[in-house]
Amino acid sequence: MSKKKGILNLPNTPQYIVLHCSATSDNPNSKWYGIGEPEINEMHKARFRPSCENGIKVHTGYHYVIKKDGTLEVGKSEDHGGQHASGINTKSIGICLIGKGDAKLKGNIFYDSTNGIDQNVTSAQKSTLKKLVHKLMVQYKISSDNVIGHHDVYMLKRLAKLNNFKMLKTCPSFSVRQYMTSEFIKSGTYGDGEYMSYERSAN
Ligand SMILES: [Zn+2]
Repeated sequence: MSKKKGILNLPNTPQYIVLHCSATSDNPNSKWYGIGEPEINEMHKARFRPSCENGIKVHTGYHYVIKKDGTLEVGKSEDHGGQHASGINTKSIGICLIGKGDAKLKGNIFYDSTNGIDQNVTSAQKSTLKKLVHKLMVQYKISSDNVIGHHDVYMLKRLAKLNNFKMLKTCPSFSVRQYMTSEFIKSGTYGDGEYMSYERSAN
């Protein structure tokens, strides 16, 4: 495949945080296990035109990548629209968790019979994710309802009647709604200056 050419710097106004997985092996012996943003950048070269970040061409479609060891790496700047969630690329921050999981689709229903986020996300990744999600929620006044998984984007499209609704992905392979409920506690209403606490639930 040929490399996509020409800079594409889209403005971004974050209203959503979208969680993804890299769909690469969760096996610690796999060469894919230790990958991060540089490898994602290589993968995305064939698919996406780059943005220009401080003079450097960035093909990575996400704003952040969280490695298996919890290391946070930066892809696009938050000011630039990503290429990770068709329909809301200029209204969101995309975070990619390295890993795969094995959630399934049953028709248009996302189905995860396994251990939720723990099936494919390490505790080190979860720790980094929680800090990052909280920081972004506060920074952009994003409510918990707008922290979603890639697969939830298809529901948004249905609500907006943008396309014939068809859920095409399980990404990030866990229910982000379930994750937000278990990992964050609601401390008030959203949209009027109050955000969920980032204290872990008591139970
Ligand atoms: Zn995704």
